[in-house]
Formats: sequence, structure tokens, C-alpha cells
Amino acid sequence: MKDSHGRTIDYLRISLTDRCNFRCIYCMPADGVCALAHEDILRIEEIEQIVRVAASHGIRSVRLTGGEPLVRKGVVELVDSITSMPGIENVSLTTNGVLLPGMAGELSRAGLHRVNISLDTLDPQQFRDITRTGRLEDTLAGIDAALEAGFDPVKVNAVTVRRLDQDFLKFAKLSCDRPLHVRFIEYMPLGDSSESGIGWGKEDVIPSEELLETINARAVESGMEPLRPAGSKPVGWGPARYYEFPGAMGTVGFISPLSRHFCSECNRLRLTADGKIRPCLFSDEEFDMRAAVREEGPEGIERVLFEALGAKPDDHHDKVGTERSMNKIGG
Ligand code: SAM
Ligand code: SF4
Repeated sequence: MKDSHGRTIDYLRISLTDRCNFRCIYCMPADGVCALAHEDILRIEEIEQIVRVAASHGIRSVRLTGGEPLVRKGVVELVDSITSMPGIENVSLTTNGVLLPGMAGELSRAGLHRVNISLDTLDPQQFRDITRTGRLEDTLAGIDAALEAGFDPVKVNAVTVRRLDQDFLKFAKLSCDRPLHVRFIEYMPLGDSSESGIGWGKEDVIPSEELLETINARAVESGMEPLRPAGSKPVGWGPARYYEFPGAMGTVGFISPLSRHFCSECNRLRLTADGKIRPCLFSDEEFDMRAAVREEGPEGIERVLFEALGAKPDDHHDKVGTERSMNKIGG
């Protein structure tokens, strides 16, 4: 599928639920979300139908996200069914990792290829402050489980926020002794910051260039060699720029949605848990896939898919606000 700006669209991100077992301060209000009603959420079979049609038109990669995708009943069966659909080459998952120790094995057997685990700090107290309900050791156990289950690559995604004063060198060093691919992602001041009342804004965004310099300066101070451009990139490298410490088993990537737009490389559509297709993360324009799948079947799915494709903007033109927060869009 090509959009009206000539980009090939072959990647679908699917939010399986808006619910989560964490309450990250930049993503959800402390008392949780006003969860979507059961009938408003796409059923597993409806998601399968949508992916089947999307795959017949060129979607090759699917990422399951949320909310926390592993709290959604039927996720393993969904992975099993999507990975065996004609045309689908890659199925991946973005998770906070907590449920991976009990699920990594069955997800791997179901055919899941890759896992991204979100972790913003290695400090237990800061972890609790950010997630409100989480324990650092649970997410670390999730990373161990992902490596043991043989997912390749295992990426660890950290959102960088100036006022959090995270220890970025310690984080980057996670890539040294194990095949972990650490990625630093610029915080995006979406609708969530006003909703959760944290009031974080553009001043909290740490541009990736600055972060790279900070990490390298600290590495040199501590007697390490600085990061250098990575020799080979992990599979599914997407819009990150990758570096590595000499001799490290993994890499360190920087994703810069704000300081370096990667709109010209955009290859994705998003499907929200309540069945809306979003052509762009930063735009509130949505297309009603739920009505199409429920009322019209495959022809309706196809129609909405192409309407959304035609509406993909060329760039987000510095707009970062949206009505919905990440747990609702599917980060
Ligand atoms: N619960 C899963 C997890 O945390 O990995 C999947 C959903 S979560 C919304 C996906 C990713 O979005 C997480 O890595 C999270 O840190 C990130 N995220 C949420 N709000 C964000 C924001 N305002 N800016 C940048 N990243 C954000
Ligand atoms: Fe949950 Fe992920 Fe949002 Fe944190 S970032 S509250 S783990 S959905």
C-alpha cells in the first residue's frame, strides 16, 4: 500500500486494550483510566479479520501494544493466528514486562518474533514514582524472561524526561554484557500531561543529540570509550539511530520524534483498542474500523483502510498535542 505521499505503508500497530497494571505518570491518571466498555473494544476475532484484510494489501509487520497488551485475554491466541497469516512477516509486542516471566514461553511458541520492554529508570524508588504501582524487579525479571525465551532482538525503551534526572549512562551500559538494545525516546508532551495534571511540557524534552553528548561525556569521565555508530542494526530498527560501546553485545539507539521528524520514513497505521484507525500519532483524525468490521465485513475493512491511508499527512509539522493519551492510542 502506498499513501498519497509515496510512502509504502506495511506496518500496523494495534492497541489491544486501554487498561494497564501500571499507572505511569506521563501516560495515565493516578486513579486509572475511565476504561472502555467491553462492547466498545474490538473482539479478538475482529482484530484477526482486520489484520487478514490489511495483510492482503501489504501490511507485513504487526506490533501489539496498549495499555498493557499482556493483560488482554486471548493475546497468545491472537499472536498464534496473526503469525500464521499469509503476508505477515513479523509480529512484535511492546510491554512493561511484568507478565513476561509467566508468558514469554507461550508467546514464543505462538510465534511472536520480537519484544520491546519499556523501562525508564534503574532506580527502584524512581521506578515506583514513575509507574505509581510497579516494582523495578518485576520489569527486570521480564527482561530476563524475554532473553531466555530467545526473542531477538530484545529492546529496552526508555522515555527521557529532563526533570526526571535519569542516570542515562547506567542505562546505556545495559547493552554491554547482554544482547539488549537500549533505546532512548524523546518524551512527547501529548494530551496525557494535561489529563494527568503533571504539566510536563516541551522544556522536558531532551533532544537526542544532547543526550548522546551527555552519555559520551559521562562515559569518558568514567574511563570508558564513547559510543560509536553501530556496525549492524538490530532487526526492525525503525526510525532509531544506533550506536554501540566498543565490544558491547547490544546497541544504544536514539528515537527523536520531536527533534528529528522521521515522517518521510513513516510506514505505519495505528488501530486503537476501540477500533479507530489513526493515520498519524499526532493527529486526532480517526476512521471508524469498528463499525466497518461489525456492519460491513471485509469490504468495509478495505474501504476504511484505504480512507485512512489517503489521510496520512506528510508531516506532523511540529504539532505534538492530541486529545488522547498513549494508553488510549497505543504507544
Ligand atoms: N504498556 C506497554 C508499555 O509500557 O510498554 C505498552 C503501551 S505504552 C503506552 C508504550 C510506550 O509508550 C511506553 O514505552 C511508554 O513509555 C511510551 N509513552 C507513553 N506516553 C509517552 C509520551 N508522552 N511520550 C513518549 N513515550 C510515551
Ligand atoms: Fe501502562 Fe505502558 Fe502507559 Fe505505563 S506506559 S501506564 S505501562 S500503558
